[in-house]
Amino acid sequence: MPNKKSWAEPWKIKMVEHLRMTTKEERIVAIKEAGYNTFLLKSRDVYIDLLTDSGTNAMSDRQWAGLMLGDEAYAGSRNFYHLEKTIQDYYSYKYLIPTHQGRGAEHIFSQIMIKKGDYVPGNMYFTTTRLHQELAGAKFVDIIIDEAHDTASHHPFKGNVDLEKLQKLIDEVGADRIPYVSMATTVNMAGGQPISMANLKELRELTKKYNIPIAHDMTRVAENAWFIKEREDGYQNKSVKEIVYEICALTDHATMSAKKDPIVNIGGFLATNDEDLYCKAQNMVVIYEGLHTYGGMAGRDMEAMAIGITESVSDDHMRARVGQTQYLGQKLIDFGIPIVMPVGSHGVFLDAKKFLPHLEQDALPAQTLAAVIYIESGVRTMERGIVSAGRNKETRENYYPKLELVRVTLPRRVYTQSHMDVTAESIATVYERRDSIKGLRFTYEPEYLRFFQARFEPIK
Ligand SMILES: *Cc1c(COP(=O)(O)O)cnc(C)c1O
Repeated sequence: MPNKKSWAEPWKIKMVEHLRMTTKEERIVAIKEAGYNTFLLKSRDVYIDLLTDSGTNAMSDRQWAGLMLGDEAYAGSRNFYHLEKTIQDYYSYKYLIPTHQGRGAEHIFSQIMIKKGDYVPGNMYFTTTRLHQELAGAKFVDIIIDEAHDTASHHPFKGNVDLEKLQKLIDEVGADRIPYVSMATTVNMAGGQPISMANLKELRELTKKYNIPIAHDMTRVAENAWFIKEREDGYQNKSVKEIVYEICALTDHATMSAKKDPIVNIGGFLATNDEDLYCKAQNMVVIYEGLHTYGGMAGRDMEAMAIGITESVSDDHMRARVGQTQYLGQKLIDFGIPIVMPVGSHGVFLDAKKFLPHLEQDALPAQTLAAVIYIESGVRTMERGIVSAGRNKETRENYYPKLELVRVTLPRRVYTQSHMDVTAESIATVYERRDSIKGLRFTYEPEYLRFFQARFEPIK
């Protein structure tokens, strides 16, 4: 027997959803109509949809059964109390404010915590998170370790905070200008990279000294826990569930996009141990989301989320989840394709600067590559580079991020190993003719989060 541990899924398929196969001619028309932005493609024109892992998950039979237990009372739904207890038991936080998705929580949290002129340090920015911080009047400061910006570095915990960078910021602006440190598990924009428990403990020590709270962007905390179990000394015999609890207990507040880890299609929350913040947030949530016992979700959504949280912290689930991503990553490595190393948890990130070295960053290499991969095979991916980074709010200059990536993201429990094979092969086909690929330019640029709705045309 070969000495290889399989990551095979701890579930089987009960129902299937048909996919439409398209021709290359059809796809050329579709991407042109979409302004060369994969976010603007119609889903019916997509074969394998690896745009995002956000809300694209397959729920279990238990979660679907949970939908039938929806208590659609306006106030005090029993599903809210189930969800509240689940969050206390699994994530350690005392108070729950449900929201329609992650950014709803980010909005409320940023508005309450931030004063104009504040600084919010974080282990790399995330698009919606930073925008809400900026809209509330803060400046985001990147304090992730330098290795996170280097696609070739094999550092096992590229999500780690560089504590010297944080100390320097505290010395420069003063702790009272830092309302909180924003700490993400895992770091999406760095390629789904984890933070280590040791680093988080050090961060806790330093922030405690200055009385600065830690706000936990916990969208993929269970995926982060899996990497800690695999890579960090002393955690091999702990369960994902135990590690998740330990991570959360080292932080003060949390925002969650339940469209990720908790394996549902919509939902999110703000959670905290701070009663004062809880009261303020309860008041704000009724303005923007809905009453504080549903916050934009139906009762059945909260039930499916509570069940999904318990499933997400299972070691067997996480072994298959991260195993599938590693499988796709290894296939691409075997084809010689430049990707972010080590392979992260929720997707494989193609290094568009190395894939298309003949294109300047202003020719939007990652945006271009995502469009070409779609034309090749109907596989939908997305840009994570200069288009996603947007412009500086004051100078209006483009941000020029070091990372110019195409994210090939895996929905949870949706696609098979053969879908991964087809994906890798089609990217390899594009790689073979990479020299002939020309760039794109903007024809329409929206003001906020431009990557979602911008339109482009090929450079002649
Ligand atoms: C998706 C995501 C968010 C925002 O959540 P939405 O549910 O999409 O609003 C915030 N932070 C990270 C790291 C995310 O991946």
